Amino acid sequence: MRIAVIGAGAAGTMAAIFAASAGAEILLLERTRDGGRKILISGGGRCNVLPARVDESRFVTDSSSATLRNILRSWPLREQIAFFEHELGLPLIEEVESAKLFPASNRARDVRDGLLRLARDRGVTFLPETAVQRFGPASGGWRVERAGGPALLVDRVIVATGGLSVPKTGSDGVGLTVLGELGHVVHSVYPALTPILADPAPFAALAGVSLTVTITARSPERSATATGGFLFTHHGYSGPAVLDVSHVATRSRAATLLVQWTPLGEPEWEAALKPAGAGAILGALRRELPDRFAAALLQAAGVDPTRPLAQIRRDERRRLIEVLVRFELPWTGDEGYKKAEVTGGGVSLAEIDPRTMESRKHPGLFICGEALDAFGPIGGYNFLWAWATGRAAGLGARK
Ligand SMILES: Cc1cc2nc3c(=O)[nH]c(=O)nc-3n(C[C@H](O)[C@H](O)[C@H](O)COP(=O)(O)OP(=O)(O)OC[C@H]3O[C@@H](n4cnc5c(N)ncnc54)[C@H](O)[C@@H]3O)c2cc1C
Repeated sequence: MRIAVIGAGAAGTMAAIFAASAGAEILLLERTRDGGRKILISGGGRCNVLPARVDESRFVTDSSSATLRNILRSWPLREQIAFFEHELGLPLIEEVESAKLFPASNRARDVRDGLLRLARDRGVTFLPETAVQRFGPASGGWRVERAGGPALLVDRVIVATGGLSVPKTGSDGVGLTVLGELGHVVHSVYPALTPILADPAPFAALAGVSLTVTITARSPERSATATGGFLFTHHGYSGPAVLDVSHVATRSRAATLLVQWTPLGEPEWEAALKPAGAGAILGALRRELPDRFAAALLQAAGVDPTRPLAQIRRDERRRLIEVLVRFELPWTGDEGYKKAEVTGGGVSLAEIDPRTMESRKHPGLFICGEALDAFGPIGGYNFLWAWATGRAAGLGARK
């Protein structure tokens, strides 16, 4: 049996490892010189390999979420952790405040190199600088056409070409295009986990300031809420919470972004801003927020920061509380695929058998990773998906 795996990223390398077996020839075709480039740049160069805990409801898909859950559960988190620690020999440690798992070495390169090494050790043939242009059924098997070389004839194909995000890592969208041409339903793609832009950026002077917020993005079609880090940038907003809801904005310019800037909700702020004492209003806000930002919010609410709390009028307090718990963040765009950590949309999960990842349209064709219509939040969820679907496709293809 000869199996071609297209794309040596997270999902493809895992697929190759699990497809490898006695009597099978596994070819791992990769467009770049080295493969796994997203692993290398992931988690700020540390690679957030997995989440410490999984909340399946945080995955996003336009396909069936029950199918998504079935696929995820095919390789439970604890088994994935055991694979990295015992089979790859890469101990993982939890960053407690973020519930993320990183390699103990804190080196993404160890993850990328370790996976490719294991693939080679299991007999996989790695073919770098091999850009696949087309693939399709041919005489009982599959024909894989590549730039600058003869076509390969194989029995089965695993497509692990990823999406469109961060093109310099090798993503070119060819895989999705060909899968669509082969008759698969491909849900419209969109950048996800990408920073949001505001032009003009009203808080550009606060670039670099970060805080923990709850942000809700709401459009007529969908909404998402996240609690976590929020970062002001020179051109808008970033940080995990912003990235986690950004898909609502990238899919609809009509989306509103509402921010609660602190853990305090309306009743708590009502209590904190009770007219009392001689202290200035700014002081009350500074107990919960960075100085400069507290001043900016008072300005947004049209409240004089030097006014003593005791003198604040009822309408001023109302406006201020509104700004503190339901601030409508001005935004005009997003960083798109250039910065998106993942691509949303992709091949509908209804197009594959969730146990084997085999296409329901084309026997012998398997699809895994980001090319499928699913993504998760920041925190190791997207590798969780890539590892689970890659393994399932590898095992499915070698059957
Ligand atoms: C900056 C950044 C940081 C991230 N950090 C994290 C993190 O810490 N934790 C986490 O869980 N997720 C993270 N992600 C997301 C994660 O990297 C992706 O979800 C994951 O890599 C998707 O795996 P994949 O194998 O489907 O696609 P990819 O990893 O993109 O792999 C696709 C591979 O296919 C190759 N390829 C594409 N087209 C062709 C072709 N025509 N011919 C041959 N080869 C081709 C590409 O060169 C690439 O090597 C991050 C993403 C980015 C961009």
